[in-house]
Amino acid sequence: MHNSNIKKSDILEATLICPHCNEAIKVDLPLSFSQHAQHRYSMGDNVEWTPNGLEHGGRPKNGSLLVESNAECPACQKGFSATIEIIADTIKAIILDFNRFGYSHPRGKNRPSRCGIVKFSNTWNLTPRRCAAIVRLAEMGVDIYSNTGEYTLLIPHELHDGLYLDIGYLMAQLGDDDFPTGYAGLTADLPGRKYPKRANDEATIYFSESLPDGFRYRVNPL
Ligand SMILES: [Zn+2]
Repeated sequence: MHNSNIKKSDILEATLICPHCNEAIKVDLPLSFSQHAQHRYSMGDNVEWTPNGLEHGGRPKNGSLLVESNAECPACQKGFSATIEIIADTIKAIILDFNRFGYSHPRGKNRPSRCGIVKFSNTWNLTPRRCAAIVRLAEMGVDIYSNTGEYTLLIPHELHDGLYLDIGYLMAQLGDDDFPTGYAGLTADLPGRKYPKRANDEATIYFSESLPDGFRYRVNPL
């Protein structure tokens, strides 16, 4: 891939999920702090700082930096911003904050107060099913990150109880098996922003009440 940025900036080669079309994409993220060396970095590489001050690639305190970059999706041609996390000179993560991209869960009374943040690992195998699950989990307020290739999820306490059913199902989609067994897995044909929405904004499955012997859920078929 070639564009005019390559001549001036260092580049971080990244595999992400496009927040607009939800496809797994490879993009070149220009690194604004170092604009002359023309390195091509991958996740996990060490940054070669120059001694001339941060705006020219100088090493920041502890060698750690959060820096913004921008990409254009090769699939849908829409632009988006990402945050690159550098810790002790090593490029550790690329962060997408789904609050920035106009996401909100369509179920009015179950709506989480914020969307999730996804820290991408270069060890994730982003199949269409996993892409759909990650986007939908982020939409529900779940943060997802990784150190070793596994998916680590932070599920907020304050979510409406009805969302936990969805979250459990979506978590299972990050594994290798179809879940539930014998049922078709989630497909990319049903990305998060197309989650079925009813005219009255009611959920199909929703939490009703907490009783001494358990939670009561209701299923409201179409
Ligand atoms: Zn796209």
